[in-house]
Amino acid sequence: MPTAYLFDPIYLQHYERGHVEGPERLDHINRALDSTGLRARLVELKPQPIALERLTRVHHPGYVDQVKSIAQRGGGGLAGRGDETYVAPQSYEAAVLAAGAVVTGVEAVLRGEATNAFALVRPPGHHAFANHGEGFCLFNNVAIAAATARAEFAIDRVLIVDFDIHHGNGTNAIFYNDPTVMYCSTHQWGIYPGTGYWDEIGMGAGTGYSANVPMLPGWGDTAMLRVFDDLLMPIARRFHPQLILVSAGYDPSWTDRLGSMLVTTRGFFQLTQRLVWLANELCAGKLVLTLEGGYGLEGLAYGVVASFAAMLGDEAFTDPIGPAPRPELAFDQDYLNRLRALHGLT
Ligand SMILES: [Zn+2]
Repeated sequence: MPTAYLFDPIYLQHYERGHVEGPERLDHINRALDSTGLRARLVELKPQPIALERLTRVHHPGYVDQVKSIAQRGGGGLAGRGDETYVAPQSYEAAVLAAGAVVTGVEAVLRGEATNAFALVRPPGHHAFANHGEGFCLFNNVAIAAATARAEFAIDRVLIVDFDIHHGNGTNAIFYNDPTVMYCSTHQWGIYPGTGYWDEIGMGAGTGYSANVPMLPGWGDTAMLRVFDDLLMPIARRFHPQLILVSAGYDPSWTDRLGSMLVTTRGFFQLTQRLVWLANELCAGKLVLTLEGGYGLEGLAYGVVASFAAMLGDEAFTDPIGPAPRPELAFDQDYLNRLRALHGLT
């Protein structure tokens, strides 16, 4: 079965002049897919707009109306949340089709039409809460896909892995009390949104179903792979998901403008390989990635290429960008041991 990607030109219409989260991000990804010859190895699926009942399974109807009405009156910022999260005239349509792309990818994978899929979308989603958007996110694409899989496809356990450099505060909040959707995140400590402390492990019935791993600035491939191999993968195996969704953010790249981690393109290949291995081992390969952040355009574009190479089952990847110009900060094994103990791993 093929590896699929989803894209629509409407994602380029979500735009505010000078904003770091701009359409050039997807332009660079599309160019890299062509220049590396990778696109020819993929199948393109057409994103379907999300039905309102799927959107409102996660978001309050009043918030959906708010985004729609700001777009209809010509765009603007989200009220009361500063000006960093914008709504352009075409943003509602783009956001509806961004959520729709992840759901379309999930449907294809669950129906056996694709092994795995990657939704190349904007606006991103993981900072969007049930009743408000923030952090450049309008609707929570990955949460809507998880909720759809749960409600409509008889999937009892969904794992969401979030390797964006920012904590997916919206996603984590939406499922914080829910033992059926496990959320695992690595994120740089000390930057927006300031949540995702290591002891945030869920609440009520959801206790133990959130794993948050703050990372230090200067950590790179070594730290990420260690955290995946020795913490997140064992936790995922214990959970035994039937579907794995990934908030794929490439802002841990050493090329990034917003983050201070040092992950390489090869590192993104190795990270995605682990997710592919996990999906093969636990859920017949069912894996759907959705694009979140990534603001170093080369690091973003080739990071996405690297993820596709891993999804296709390539065993090696040549890093076109190379390592960071400075060495990684040494990883702290004691910290990992404390996290393993907290999560009941011995
Ligand atoms: Zn991010």
